[in-house]
Amino acid sequence: MPINAFAKPTWEYDIMTVTIERAGDVAIVTIDNPPVNALSQALRQDLWNAAETLDADPSVRAVVLICEGRTFIAGADVNEFGKPPTPPHLPDLVARIETAAKPWVAAIHGSALGGGFEVALGCRFRVAVPSASVGLPEVRLGIVPGAGGTVRLPRLVGPALAAEMVTTGTPVAAPRARAQGLIDAVVEGDLEKGAIDFARAALDQSLPLPLRQRGVPAVDAAFWETSTTVVAGRAKREDAPLRALACVRTAAEADFEAAMAFERQTFLELRGSSQASALRHVFFAERAALRPPELGGVEPRRIRSAAVIGGGTMGAGIAAALCDARLPVTLVERDEVALERGLSNLRSIIDGLVKRGKISSEAAAERLSAVTGTTDYGLLAGVDLVIEAVFEDIDVKRDVFSRLSAVCRADAVLATNTSYLDPEEIAAGIKHPERFVGLHFFSPAHVMKLLEIVPTAQTTAATLATGFALARMLNKIPVRAGICDGFIGNRILKMTRAQAERLLLAGATPQAVDAAMRTFGFPMGPFEAQDLGGLDIAAFQRRAAHARGDTPFAPVAERLCALERFGHKSGGGWYDYTKGDRTPQPSKIVAGIIGELATGTPQRQWDEAAIIDCIVLPMVNEAAKILKDKVALRSADIDLVEIHGYGFPRWRGGLMHYAEERGLTEIAVRLNALAADGLAEPPCNQFEGWVE
Ligand code: NAD
Repeated sequence: MPINAFAKPTWEYDIMTVTIERAGDVAIVTIDNPPVNALSQALRQDLWNAAETLDADPSVRAVVLICEGRTFIAGADVNEFGKPPTPPHLPDLVARIETAAKPWVAAIHGSALGGGFEVALGCRFRVAVPSASVGLPEVRLGIVPGAGGTVRLPRLVGPALAAEMVTTGTPVAAPRARAQGLIDAVVEGDLEKGAIDFARAALDQSLPLPLRQRGVPAVDAAFWETSTTVVAGRAKREDAPLRALACVRTAAEADFEAAMAFERQTFLELRGSSQASALRHVFFAERAALRPPELGGVEPRRIRSAAVIGGGTMGAGIAAALCDARLPVTLVERDEVALERGLSNLRSIIDGLVKRGKISSEAAAERLSAVTGTTDYGLLAGVDLVIEAVFEDIDVKRDVFSRLSAVCRADAVLATNTSYLDPEEIAAGIKHPERFVGLHFFSPAHVMKLLEIVPTAQTTAATLATGFALARMLNKIPVRAGICDGFIGNRILKMTRAQAERLLLAGATPQAVDAAMRTFGFPMGPFEAQDLGGLDIAAFQRRAAHARGDTPFAPVAERLCALERFGHKSGGGWYDYTKGDRTPQPSKIVAGIIGELATGTPQRQWDEAAIIDCIVLPMVNEAAKILKDKVALRSADIDLVEIHGYGFPRWRGGLMHYAEERGLTEIAVRLNALAADGLAEPPCNQFEGWVE
C-alpha cells in the first residue's frame, strides 16, 4: 500500500500527485499527475515534501523517481504559462533533490523534457527505457531553460553537446543519450525494478559528485566563435537560441551560482518577450487545432487502410505520409506506365528518407511492402479512405469520383486534394455525398505539416472528424477551411503575389522584394519561391480563374510565361540561372518587361520596411475578409495556415498575431494610404469580424 509523501489523511490521496513506496532500503517516489506529469505547483510542492520526508528517514539509502502514465515529467505545466510563478520554484526544487542526503535516480520512460529533464539532472543518476528521450526544448517557446538546464548539462556532457541541445531544442533518444553520457543506463524490461537494481549497485560504489560540484570540461576559445556563427545562421532572427548559447558559455566560464543567476535572468527576460508570447500563441493554437470544439464528442470513422488516386507529385507524397503512419496503401494510376512512374516517385521519397538517416532501410522495406499499385479501381472495395490527387481538371476528377462511388463501401471516406476547384462540383452526383471532404495537402506532402480540411454542405460531422483524426495520425496540423477560390492559404498567396508585382511596377526590383521578405523572416521571397515551384502552375490557375470571370493581377508573370520562363525548370523565370547553379541572377529580360509595363506608374524608392508593409498588410486585409466570410473559423487557424503552409515566421506568431501585435487601427491607416496610391485593393478595413 503506497504511503503518501507527507502523511495527509487517506481521503486526500486522490488529489495527491506523489506517493512513496519502499523496496527495502530504496524508496520509490511515484509521480501521478495526468496527462503528462507536468510540473504544476502541486507536484513541485509534493516532490519537495517527499525529499524532506525521505531525508528524515534513516532507513532510506537511495530514492528512485518514477512516473505513472505514458511519460516521465514532460515539462512545465502549460496552464501556468505566462502566469506569475508560485513557490516552490523549480530551480529550488531541483537544488533540493540535488542536495538531498540520499542519491536520487530518475527512472525515465516517454519523454523527460524541459523542466522534466532539469529535475532528472538534479538527480544523481538517470536511467531510461530504450524508447525514452530527453531534451531541453525551451527555445521552441522562445525561452531558455529556467531551472539550471544550461548550467548542469555542460557539467554532465561538456559544452559542445549541451550547446547543441539547448540551441536546437531537439530531444535525444535513449540509446544515443546513453552513448553520450546524458543517462547512465538503458533499462530493458521493467523500469522500476531496473532502477532499484541500478540504485543498489550504485550504493556499493563511490558516488559521483552532484552536477553543481563538478567542473565544465574545457573547450578552445574558437569553439564559442564558431558556435555563435552556426547558431546565429540557424536561428535567423529568433533571439532564444543565441541567448541559450550565452547561458552555456557562462556555465563554462563562471562559477555555478553565477551561471544559475545568469540563466535565471535570461529566462525571465525572454519569458516576457514578444517572441516568446508569439511562440506560446502558436503552441496553444496547434494544440487547439487538433481538437476543434465544434467537433467535440463526434466519433471519427476508423481508418485502417487507405488508397491514393494519382501517383504524381502530390499523390506520391500523400502515399508516403500514409505509409509513415503504418497504413496499408493502394496507389491507383490511370495506366501501367503512369503506375510504374507513380510507384517510382513513392520509392524515391522513401529512399530519400533512408539517405537522410530519417528511417532505416528495414523500415523503408516494411513501408513499401504495405503498398499495392494498381490500375484497377475494383481493388478499392474494402478501403476505409480514398484520397484523390489526379490532374486539376474537373472532368477528370468527377470521372474518378463516379468510379469510386461505384466500388467503395458506403461508409468509406472519399477525399479530394484539389487546390482551386470547387469540392461541391467535384462531389456532385456521387453516392453518399455525406462521406466526401476536401483534404488539401501541401507540397511535399510527406513533409509539410499543414492540412486544410474542406467540408461541403453535405459533409457530415463524422466525416469531418475523420479528416481531423487522419491529421493526428499523419502528424499534421489540420485547419478547417470553407470553400472559396484557394481556400485559406492559396487565397492569401494570390494576394502576396499580386502585391509583389504591384511593387515591381512602382519601382522595386525582384531582388529587393525577395530580400525584404527574407528579412521579415520568410525562408524565401515570393519571386524566388515562384521560380522554385514553377510559374506554369499559377498560370494554369489564372487561366481557370479567367474562365470563371476573375482577373488575377499578374501582368509580369503573364509575360514571363508567354516567353516560357517558368523558373528553375526552364533555366529562367523571375531570375536568370546558369546551368547547374540555382543562384538567382538579376535578369535584363525581366527588367525590360517591368520597365515596359510600368510606363505611366509613378516610380519611388522602396526601403525594406515599406516593401514588407506593401505585401504583408494587404495579406492581413485578405485574411480579415476570409474570417469575415467564415472561410476560416478562428484567426489562430489562419496563423497556422501561414506558418505551416507558407513559411511565415513562427516567432512572429503567424499573420494575424503579427497584425494584432502591430495594432489593427495602425494597419487600417496604412492600408488606406497604400490604396490611395494605387498599391492595394480597397476596401481596406475588414477587421470587424476578427475573432480569436
Ligand atoms: P501531377 O500531374 O504531378 O500528378 C497527377 C497524377 O494523376 C498523374 O500521375 C496522372 O497520371 C494521375 N492521373 C490522372 N488521371 C488519373 C485517373 N483517372 N486515375 C488515376 N490517376 C490519374 O499533379 P499534382 O501536382 O500531384 O497535383 C494533383 C492534385 O493535387 C491537383 O488537384 C492539384 O491541384 C493538387 N495539389 C497540388 C499541389 C502542388 O504543389 N503540386 C499542392 C496541393 C494540391
